[in-house]
Amino acid sequence: MGGMNHLDALKEFLSIPSVSAQPEHAADVSRCADYLVQKLREMKFDAQKINTEIHPVVVAKSPTVAGKPTVLIYGHYDVMPIDPIEEWESAPFEPSVRNGRIYARGASDDKGEIMAHLLGVRELLAEDGELPLNVIFLLEGEEERGSTSLHNLLQQPEMVKQLGCDIIVVSDTGMAAPDVPSFSYGLKGLCCFELEVRGPAMDLHSGIFGGAVANPITTLCEMLATTHDENGRITVEGFYDGVSEIADWEKESWKRVPGMSDAELADLTGVPALRTEEGYTGAECVYARPTFEPNGIVGGYMGEGSKTVIPTHAIAKISCRLVPGQDPVDIMRKVEAHFRKVCPPSVRMKFTMQHAGDAYMSDPHSPFGKAAQQALEETFGNPPVLVREGGSIPIVAELSGKLGKDALFLGLDLPDARIHSPNENMRLEIFEKGISMVKNLLRLMSRVPV
Ligand SMILES: [Zn+2]
Repeated sequence: MGGMNHLDALKEFLSIPSVSAQPEHAADVSRCADYLVQKLREMKFDAQKINTEIHPVVVAKSPTVAGKPTVLIYGHYDVMPIDPIEEWESAPFEPSVRNGRIYARGASDDKGEIMAHLLGVRELLAEDGELPLNVIFLLEGEEERGSTSLHNLLQQPEMVKQLGCDIIVVSDTGMAAPDVPSFSYGLKGLCCFELEVRGPAMDLHSGIFGGAVANPITTLCEMLATTHDENGRITVEGFYDGVSEIADWEKESWKRVPGMSDAELADLTGVPALRTEEGYTGAECVYARPTFEPNGIVGGYMGEGSKTVIPTHAIAKISCRLVPGQDPVDIMRKVEAHFRKVCPPSVRMKFTMQHAGDAYMSDPHSPFGKAAQQALEETFGNPPVLVREGGSIPIVAELSGKLGKDALFLGLDLPDARIHSPNENMRLEIFEKGISMVKNLLRLMSRVPV
């Protein structure tokens, strides 16, 4: 990156196909970690590649500046698979610049954001000769497949000690509009599970046995229908225990998030009308209310023509997005208890817990939070909207818990960045502003007393 311009550096980084989910790319993921280590060492960071059972984690520390805060910048250098390849207008790992954007897998999520941080730090170094504070980069290669290795590393007290910091900064989230910076201070938690309803031992003739035996598809649907009341509230007993009300300043702030009014949300999603929990706007539900969503349902015959059977079973895959105050495992137990209660004696049910992650919230008005807000305003010319994420980054919640420090989310992914989709891109203007934002952020954070 020595004398390289910003765009060339980004292109180089994006051309490494670091797809973490596919074993055939394991060597590329490893090479991507090497690339980062090399770039960080050029900036005088003490950088190491920590090999794990899956993909490496990169940890890099700047030369110590005594008496100044330490900022830990978390990001992930792995990317999602590229399918469906035929929908890409240019090759996903041959970065292409058109209409003021760079197109490549990872352009926004999360390589573009990582590179903005690296270049911001490099420019500060070039301008001032040294950094105004301490910086630790923590860059993992498994975020898109569940962060297993970083989770394992965080179980080692030695590693937690090495990552000791005053504040965690993450750029892996969205931005409302090109001139409206976004500052998120919350993440939803998540739990995923399956509900299976089993009826007859074999598919039955619907004439010979119909009417005498419960149909598992009907029963599954009836059971799912008991999970919400007519006001859109979840009826699972104890589901909302520990959930706090949304603060007034949050409600006010969310009214001015571009694209998040009820009318805009309906338009964006293509539904004829929103259907929110009563008493809450769409934005409030997305950011701060827990949800219960069947994600898929299967059962019976779906081939050509008709086949008149009572199927043996039906299955629903379900997930809940959770908010601070809810424990994901506790929620799954409560949901299971609910289904046991409503399951009729005519079928058997099986409930399988899958994965779970905690919700997270930090204080956007802390001294570091205020520095972040100011950096965004100085860079983009407008104050940031303060939002919570509807999505989940469980590893960040864990990292913040282990280090005992807040995490602040300064996202640069625009709604049209197509992250995880074909033609992922980043606006070059946003990339450049991202670099300036990082410089402003680190300068402002260096003034926070620690
Ligand atoms: Zn990401």
